This record gives sequence, C-alpha cells and structure tokens, in this order.
Amino acid sequence: MSKILIRGAKVLGGEPQDVLIDGATIAAVGRDLPADGAEIVEAGGKVLLPGLVDLHTHLREPGREDSETVLTGTRAAASGGYTAVFAMANTFPVADTAGVVEQVWRLGKEHGYCDVRPIGAVTVGLEGHKLAELGAMHESAAGVTVFSDDGKCVHDAVIMRRALEYVKAFDGVVAQHAQEPRLTEGAEMNEGVVSAELGLGGWPAVAEESIIARDVLLAEHVGSRVHICHLSTAGSVEIVRWAKSRGIRVTAEVTPHHLLLTDELVRTYDPVYKVNPPLRTERDVTALREALADGTIDIVATDHAPHPHEDKDCEWAAAAMGMVGLETALSVVQETMVDTGLLDWAGVADRMSFQPARIGRAEGHGRPVSAGEPANLTLVDTAYRGSVDPAGFASRSRNTPYEGRELPGRVTHTWLRGKATLVDGKLT
Ligand SMILES: [Zn+2]
Repeated sequence: MSKILIRGAKVLGGEPQDVLIDGATIAAVGRDLPADGAEIVEAGGKVLLPGLVDLHTHLREPGREDSETVLTGTRAAASGGYTAVFAMANTFPVADTAGVVEQVWRLGKEHGYCDVRPIGAVTVGLEGHKLAELGAMHESAAGVTVFSDDGKCVHDAVIMRRALEYVKAFDGVVAQHAQEPRLTEGAEMNEGVVSAELGLGGWPAVAEESIIARDVLLAEHVGSRVHICHLSTAGSVEIVRWAKSRGIRVTAEVTPHHLLLTDELVRTYDPVYKVNPPLRTERDVTALREALADGTIDIVATDHAPHPHEDKDCEWAAAAMGMVGLETALSVVQETMVDTGLLDWAGVADRMSFQPARIGRAEGHGRPVSAGEPANLTLVDTAYRGSVDPAGFASRSRNTPYEGRELPGRVTHTWLRGKATLVDGKLT
C-alpha cells in the first residue's frame, strides 16, 4: 500500500504538523516526519479534520435517481469532506426491509467514495401504523443502528414507545422528524410575522416542540435513546436542554441552513428557500448557534435533500421541500460558528465527525487524528473565500440556497481509509 505524507497541516486547527498515512491507517503524527518515499501533500497551513460524518442525508436511490443516486450523492459527500453518510429511508421502495438497506449499503461500498450507513424506516412504508422489521435491518449486512421515518413524524405515541423499546435491545436510536401533523396541515412556511404578511399557511414552532417534549419523556420512560432531527426553534433548544439536565438520553442535530437563513427570505417567493422544517426567525438562529456551541445541540447534519429543477423551479405552493447541503455544509459552519468565534476547529471536528459517528455508531469514523487510527481525513483551506457555483456540484441536483453567495472555506482533499477521494478540489 502507498504512503502519503501530509506536510504542515493544522490538525484540528492546532499548530502545523505532519501526518503520515500508510495504507488505510494513520502511521504517525508529528513535526518534520521523514518523507521516506511517501507521496507528499503540502498542506501549507490548511486545517486537517477527521473525515466528516453526516447523520442525515437523502441519497434518493432507489426510486428517485433523477434527483440523486448513491454514486452522485457519495461523490457530493466526498467533495464536501465527508467519509460517512447515513442515508435516509424515504426512498421508493422505502428502506423498511433488510433487502432495501442492504442494496443501499452495497452500492455505497461498490462506489467507494464514502461509507454509506442506511437508516431504516421506523414504520412500514413510513405510514406510521406498523413497526418495520427493525431487528432484521439491524442484523442485516447493513447493520442498521439508526431508524427514522424522516419526512414524516412518528406521530403515534404508542408506535414511538414500541420503537424506542425495540432499539434499546441493541443500543439503536430512533431519529425523530418532530412535526405534529395536525398542527402543520397546509403549512408552507414558519408561522409568524412574515407568514401573516404574505398570507401563507403558518408552521408553528409548537408543532415541533410538542413532539420533542413528548419524545424526550417517552425516551426517559423507556430508558432508550432518541435523536431529534433538524432542530429549528429556540423553544426546541430549551426542551432538549431541560431533558439533558434530567439525564434523558437525547441527542439533537441542526442543519447548516437553520444556522444561517431566516424566514425573511421567503418574501422572495423563491422556492429554493422552501424547506422542512421551515426557515425560522433571527431569534431562533441565534438560539441554535448558541446551543450548538454549548453542546445542547450535539451535531450538524445536512438534511441534504436533492430535487430536480422541475420540482423546485415552480410556484411556491407546488414546490418540493428541501435543499442540497453536502457540498456547502462546512463552509456554512465556518461562516456561522468559526468566523463568529462560537466554535474552534476542534469543536467543528466534534460536532461534524466525533459526535455524529458516536450517535450512529459508525465504526472507524469520528476517530482522533492520531497514529493507529483509520485514515479518514479531510483537508480544508480555511483562508479561501468564494461564491457558491452550483454548476460545479457533484450532486445531481442544484437546489442550493447559496448560489452566488460568498462563503469561506474549501475542502481540497478527502481520504477514505487512506484512499484519496478528493485531490486539490477534484474528485478522483
Ligand atoms: Zn426531516
């Protein structure tokens, strides 16, 4: 196997060091390591992070290969610095059996850009009525540990309780898309001043918060782990903070777009801003940033939701909900959390690699950058600033809210177990 010497990299943002990769493993980390016939990568002060892990990605295969495939989605992931992604279950067919999750897992393995950990559906067909084959999906080759009906809320409290009880046996986790369905009928954007002015159906914060409150109490009752997808309100933060203070085993994620964008953008009626949960207010954005900084929110997850242009380039009411995110996530986190002084690079490694790997139990990922660890790494040019051009995306879809917006940071290299998947910004 080949050797690679990454020279002068700021490991987790610290002082520049050299990192020697031998085969699939980090062989040494230190100053002035001998080249010893290794291929040299001059890092020149770029920041070296453990490969990023996304707990919330929509890869769309099987069934919606017009918007994304496992291949295009994992190429987008590698491009964004990710070495593992958890693929959501709302495909066609739904990933609610061992057969479907194994298919998705195997495709990821064959393509080799990024490890794909399928998420299994909680209920059959995401219909919310009958538990899916959670045990069979866990015992399959895909080894499913995370279950979610994402896109839909597991709204029946009895089903949610049973799911929590079931996954407890193998230390799995239920990832809830917290959205009380009756409170959000006809909702198209955040309920507030802007929705009232525009006359669009409002999506109240309480629709999210009431489900989170219920589910942390259910998790406490059962003694199981619950994960809250894409937290979007200040009230949700308060509930998670309270639950953690009680010792409830809850973890939570925030998306990059909820850290940056607000519902004021809906005034443009540009469906690129239509997303579930909706963009909220400045007050919510501030609360989410603070909660990510203090660890109340454990991780950043992209909710990468590719859609073909015909599903987005239409009137607001008809447009699909969601944004692509894998290729801009780290830049948005740098903009909102690092450049604002809320989080350092070690903190970014924690929220985007260590913690998501821990929650999803992605073995070999989210490990320290030290000798003996798997060489899952990403190198970031944090001094870079440039405007986002979706034409350069590896994703099959282009529905980014950042087109033309200037953002900091650029991932230049990604290594998956020592194999370069991205070199000088180009996929291998
Ligand atoms: Zn969701």
